[in-house]
Amino acid sequence: MKIGKQRHSMQSSRPLVTSCLVVAVFLSTMAARAAEPEITLNVRHDHAVGSCHGKLIMDSQGARYETPHKKHARTWTYEDIKQWQVEDGRKLRVYSYQDRKWRLGADEIFAFDWTDANVSPQQIYEFLEAHTKRPIAAWVASADGSNARYEFQVKHLGTIKGSEGRLIFADDKVIYRSDEKQASRTWRYEDLESIASAGIYDLALATYEQQKFNYASRRVYNFQLKQALPPDTYDELWRFVNRKKGLGGLP
Ligand SMILES: [Zn+2]
Repeated sequence: MKIGKQRHSMQSSRPLVTSCLVVAVFLSTMAARAAEPEITLNVRHDHAVGSCHGKLIMDSQGARYETPHKKHARTWTYEDIKQWQVEDGRKLRVYSYQDRKWRLGADEIFAFDWTDANVSPQQIYEFLEAHTKRPIAAWVASADGSNARYEFQVKHLGTIKGSEGRLIFADDKVIYRSDEKQASRTWRYEDLESIASAGIYDLALATYEQQKFNYASRRVYNFQLKQALPPDTYDELWRFVNRKKGLGGLP
């Protein structure tokens, strides 16, 4: 049986190049001015050979990387950044629209690591979701999500290894919560391109997340449902998600 709507065709994205990374850190969250919160992370940016260190400062306007290694110093407004990626292992990736001069058309990606235990990936995610409308690939489970509208026990089908968890459609987010390392995810509704189902035990979320090695498409998350999802309920869910998406709106 086939139910629901087809996935939209995916937009193409450009090839990405792994950028160097790693980081040492000390980070302080400061509300310098109450009205203008900012986060300052001491980070390390690894290169193919060596690394540079500096401060990554995020505020209401954008982010800047201050480093004695002048060549790598950057200032981005939120409009300059195509996608953010926050990972469980305290990594933050910035995909900027700026091309790498030596790789025509390849986006410049800055990967930073921070190690300060006082700043969690959830805090970084929450700061970003409040300040940017660009896609955020959040490889963390948001602490939020108590107001679940729909909740499913699922298995996420990974390319190499799957994971199990709960897929929660809350008022302002979709959260995949798994106990397995690096497996959890959070999306705002506007981070989702579409929702689809190819059967009563199947649910797929197409996102705006760029794929590093498969640049022809955006990332799609395929979930196997442990309990059947009747067509009526799926249609209701589909309408719910699309209503939510209509309220946000990515550029
Ligand atoms: Zn550097």
